[in-house]
Amino acid sequence: MSSTRAVRRPVQLLSEDTVRRIAAGEVIVRPAGVVKELIENSLDASATEIRVEVKEGGRNLIKVTDNGTGMTRNDARLAVTRHATSKLTGIEDLNTLETFGFRGEALAAIAAVSRFTLETNTDESVPGTKLEVEGGEVKEVAEAAHPVGTCIIARTLFYNLPARRSFLKSDSYELKLITETVRQYAVYRHDVGFEMVADGRVVMRLAPTAEPEVRLADLFEKQVTQGLVKFSARNPLLTLSGWVSEPSQARKFYEIQGIYFNGRPVRSRPVTRAVYDAYGPVLGDANPNFILFLSTDPARLDVNIHPTKQEVRFADERFLFDFISEAVRKALGFSRSVHSASDEFLFQHSLVTDADGQMQNFWQIHNSYILAQVATGYVIMDQHAAHERVMFEELTRQRRQVSSQGLLFPVVLNLTAEQFEVYERTSEQLPAMGIQTKVFSGRSVVVETVPAGSYMGKQELEEFFCELASTCAGKVVTELELAKLVACKGSIKAGQRLTQPEMESLFNRLFACTAPGFCPHGRPTIIKVSLEELCRKFGRE
Ligand code: ADP
Ligand code: MG
Repeated sequence: MSSTRAVRRPVQLLSEDTVRRIAAGEVIVRPAGVVKELIENSLDASATEIRVEVKEGGRNLIKVTDNGTGMTRNDARLAVTRHATSKLTGIEDLNTLETFGFRGEALAAIAAVSRFTLETNTDESVPGTKLEVEGGEVKEVAEAAHPVGTCIIARTLFYNLPARRSFLKSDSYELKLITETVRQYAVYRHDVGFEMVADGRVVMRLAPTAEPEVRLADLFEKQVTQGLVKFSARNPLLTLSGWVSEPSQARKFYEIQGIYFNGRPVRSRPVTRAVYDAYGPVLGDANPNFILFLSTDPARLDVNIHPTKQEVRFADERFLFDFISEAVRKALGFSRSVHSASDEFLFQHSLVTDADGQMQNFWQIHNSYILAQVATGYVIMDQHAAHERVMFEELTRQRRQVSSQGLLFPVVLNLTAEQFEVYERTSEQLPAMGIQTKVFSGRSVVVETVPAGSYMGKQELEEFFCELASTCAGKVVTELELAKLVACKGSIKAGQRLTQPEMESLFNRLFACTAPGFCPHGRPTIIKVSLEELCRKFGRE
């Protein structure tokens, strides 16, 4: 029993100012949230250039300038009041929504918790407008010279909500969140120029481009973009395009996992789970990068389940899961059957030793497959597929030492015009693949070295340049594509006799791979037969 008696208080309506601040708290939690809302407004206003400037992690200054349509004086005044929007007239409009905004809350929320300035103009020939708001109260509306577009400044965020202001983390942490926010929009809207300045320093400057890959190259390190596989898929309800990490290129920490639904960056558990599901056990404890652009009829997507719209709900989430997971699996070259057949044994490789402590023998069958006993049964390895995986990973490993072996007799190749054109474009990338070349004369090329441990002779090199020309004609050759091709042409073929040490080395190198279960084209490298299966087949149960 408490000694103090509860005091009954009368029910009262909250003051307008209090309501405003409480509501603002739902939409704006931290500086990055302000930046998100302002960028979305700029994009909704068809801006093609957006500049974001922040100071002290956005705590003391957030300024977003755009060259969008701008606002008239009347619109500007209305825009800072709650539930004022130009994007929705009734609830049914949500079914056809093509803008980020629709709740008409963001500007009012930001203006309620900061010292807020808005400058805007719709037409070069008329004077623009300047609006000053403090804690939600409009202090000044005036004429001001301003180019077509809008500039919004929010100073001393949460100055009137001290609890929330003190809840902010370090400037560097808040800045990191802001940078990630800008990057999120920049990934999808490569057609828009973005500039970001933090404490007077330019941290991002991105020119508009028609090519999504150019934007990705501007935003991410080479190691990230080179490990990505591009893909697309569609069905009557959904269209998907994007990039996912090649399994062996996935690292412990991902750099980006971006999901966009109708252009809106969102979090979606079914989508994320579907991607991981597609990789299956080859990932181990790595986390892949992925960027997925999904589009669907807005009527199938509920965007109104979260105040900051960071979550959406698709009409049929199971369908969404299956669609994504199948599309990613295809992009990685995995077929469903391959997957389930290999799951159980992938990471339990343990070779048995004989009584003398010697490694058990390997048996080569039809000079194509290698048979070996493992702890729980036996395995059959496809020597070509296995070696392809080994070479591919050795060629794409980070900070690799490129090792090459000299050819006793350098090979001279007479390339066709198409082959020579692709050769010239890729000749700088070839040494990183262990292939050293020189132009001999005209279109004759001398190959002096091939990747160490590979089986590349004149015939394989001819095939290599022939396929390079046909698969890469007229487009940029990525390091992954190049590595796949070198691995394919340089690896042991079916029909090639192998010695015991060669077979042993192949096993060991395969199991040192990140994704040992599949060749780079997604075919299985190894099949396991368990003792139980043998028992069953022989009726020993
Ligand atoms: P919403 O985006 O949900 O409509 P906001 O509070 O973010 O709500 O913005 C209110 C209105 O102000 C918008 O509907 C739009 O008409 C106008 N507006 C806001 N920012 C800009 C901008 N950068 N350029 C032009 N108009 C803007
Ligand atoms: Mg908005």
